[in-house]
Amino acid sequence: MSDNAPYLFPAPPQPLLPVRGRREVVPLNRIFCVGRNYEAHAKEMGVAVDREAPFYFTKSPRHYVPSGATVPYPPGTANYHYEMELVVVIGRAGFRVPADRAVEYIFGYACGLDMTRRDLQFAAREQRRPWDLGKDVEQSAVIADIVPASESGHPASGHIELRVNGQTKQQSDLSLLIHSVPEIVAHLSTFYHLEPGDVIFTGTPEGVGPVLPGDLVQGSVARVGDIGLTIGPAE
Ligand code: MN
Repeated sequence: MSDNAPYLFPAPPQPLLPVRGRREVVPLNRIFCVGRNYEAHAKEMGVAVDREAPFYFTKSPRHYVPSGATVPYPPGTANYHYEMELVVVIGRAGFRVPADRAVEYIFGYACGLDMTRRDLQFAAREQRRPWDLGKDVEQSAVIADIVPASESGHPASGHIELRVNGQTKQQSDLSLLIHSVPEIVAHLSTFYHLEPGDVIFTGTPEGVGPVLPGDLVQGSVARVGDIGLTIGPAE
């Protein structure tokens, strides 16, 4: 193949993450998500907590949408759920990163919504099938403006919350993460060569629930910022 071979189809657009207060943007690479990382959420999912090691699923970076967007209620579900999360943005290549040096690999943080077809996730779980139809949903990876760690620090505690139409649905604290951010970066980097622009959704606290067309979802993480999403009509 020649380097200058013409594309048969247009190249897909590179998703770009805005950074608060800067003109530069972060080209989004991969989206990793930690499952069941708050004890009270694991319980509401009907699963015993496993403190041994975190587990992951992924979303295509093509499913990124910015905060403030309106997304259609997706096809194939009757139980579309919000999950409010702290998102970690990797800023430096790292493989087998020690936990006590993990923060050196983090560029910044953002608020995220891991929108989920809960009915399809549960059906897949029961049948021991992959979660993709439940989790790898088009326009389901909502990420707000990144705050550089040089401004936010590396939050190990702080309020995280989510409201639907102004009513509080999720309230917790980052200190209740079962696997801390440094532990996640260290563990994930034993399986993947982490790269700048990789992001990690760190898991959601308890209180997940459904959205309906017309709903306004708003969330915040102390020192990191806010996020918003409007659910439009079904496609
Ligand atoms: Mn999640």
